[in-house]
Amino acid sequence: MTRRDYYEVLGVERSATEQEIKSAYRKLALKYHPDRRPGDKDAEERFKEAAEAYAVLADPEKRGAYDRFGHAGLGGGAAGPGFDPTIFADFGDILGGLGDFFGFGDLFGGGRRRGPHRGADLRYDLEVTFDESARGTETTIQVPREETCESCRGSGSAAGSGPEVCRQCGGQGQVRYQQGFFTVARTCGMCHGTGRVITKPCGSCRGSGRVARERKLTVKIPAGIATGQRMRLVGEGEHGGPGAPPGDLYVVVHVGEHPFFKRDGDDLYGEVTASYPCLVLGGRLKVPSLDGEQNLDVPAGTASGTAFRLKGQGMPNVSGRGRGDLYVQVRVDVPRKLTREQRKLVEALGQTMDSEHAERVERDADAEKPFFERVKDIFG
Ligand SMILES: [Zn+2]
Ligand SMILES: [Zn+2]
Repeated sequence: MTRRDYYEVLGVERSATEQEIKSAYRKLALKYHPDRRPGDKDAEERFKEAAEAYAVLADPEKRGAYDRFGHAGLGGGAAGPGFDPTIFADFGDILGGLGDFFGFGDLFGGGRRRGPHRGADLRYDLEVTFDESARGTETTIQVPREETCESCRGSGSAAGSGPEVCRQCGGQGQVRYQQGFFTVARTCGMCHGTGRVITKPCGSCRGSGRVARERKLTVKIPAGIATGQRMRLVGEGEHGGPGAPPGDLYVVVHVGEHPFFKRDGDDLYGEVTASYPCLVLGGRLKVPSLDGEQNLDVPAGTASGTAFRLKGQGMPNVSGRGRGDLYVQVRVDVPRKLTREQRKLVEALGQTMDSEHAERVERDADAEKPFFERVKDIFG
C-alpha cells in the first residue's frame, strides 16, 4: 500500500503554518466525517487519512522527522502501519466544542471514552538548598490531593443505596435531538454523562465520591539536581474515577543560591582573592570545594583574573555520569587599609617598579619607531 504525502492529503504547502494545517484538517474532518456520510467507505478512508496526516504535521517533532525522512522517519506510533485511534484524543480541541456534537470517541473504538477517567497530575514545587542538591537528600513533603472516598469507595452513594438510572437520558449519558440535518448529542446535564444519578449521597463526601486529603510522601532528591528539573512519582497524583488509574505527581525542584559557587551545567565557578605578593611570588591558597577546603597552588607570576581548573571537583552529574569541574578565578586583593609599615614597603616597591615601568614604556616607544617609519615609507 502506498501512502499519500501528508501535505497533499491536507492540501497545504510544505511551508504551511500550524494554523493553516489546523484549519485545513478541520475542513476535511467536517467534510468526510462518517456521521455526515454514513456508510461511505471512501469518505471514512479520507477521514482517517486526514486525521493521520494531521497527527503528524501538528506535532513539530513528528513533522520534522517526516520532512527529513518521509513516512520512513516516523517508525511506529500514530503514523505507523495501521491506524491509531488515539489520534482523536485532541479532536475536540480542533473542532472547538464540536467534538461533543459528533460524539467522538465512540468512533473506531478509541479516543475519548466516556466513563472513568484517569486522576489529574499534580505539581509540587520543592525548594532545596545548594548543599542538598550537591549531596542528594531525602525529604518529606505533604501534598494536598483528591482521594477516593473510603466510606463509599468512590461511588458517592450512602451505604445500602446505589445510584439510579438517570431519568432525563434513560442511562445513556447523552440527550439526542434533531437540528437541521443532524442528530445532535449533548452530554446529559442531569447526570453529567454518567447515566446514573445518586439519590442518597454518602455523608463523608456529599456524593462526590472524593475527599481532599494531605498525603505525606518521602521524596529522594538525587545528587546533582538542578533548578527546573522534575521528578515524576507515578501514581501519586489525584485518584481517578472508579476503576481508573490515579494521576502522577511531578516534584519540580528549585535550588537555592550558594555564597561561593555558581553553577553552569555540571561545572562550578568561584572566585577567591590572593595578596599581590602571593601572585607575584607564588603561594598556596585555601579554596572552598564541595568536599571542604582544598589547597590551590598558585605559580609565581600569576596574573589577576587567572582561572584554575580543579578537575572532578564540580557538581555530581544527576544521571550518575561522574562530576563536573571546579573553576576558581584568582583576583588580586587590593587592601583599602595599610599599616604604616606596609605603606612604606608598598611605596618603596612602587618607586622601584614605577621607574622600571617608565623605562619599559620608553623602550617600547623606541621599538615602535622603525615600524611607523616603515609605514610612512609604504604609504607616505
Ligand atoms: Zn442523564
Ligand atoms: Zn463517599
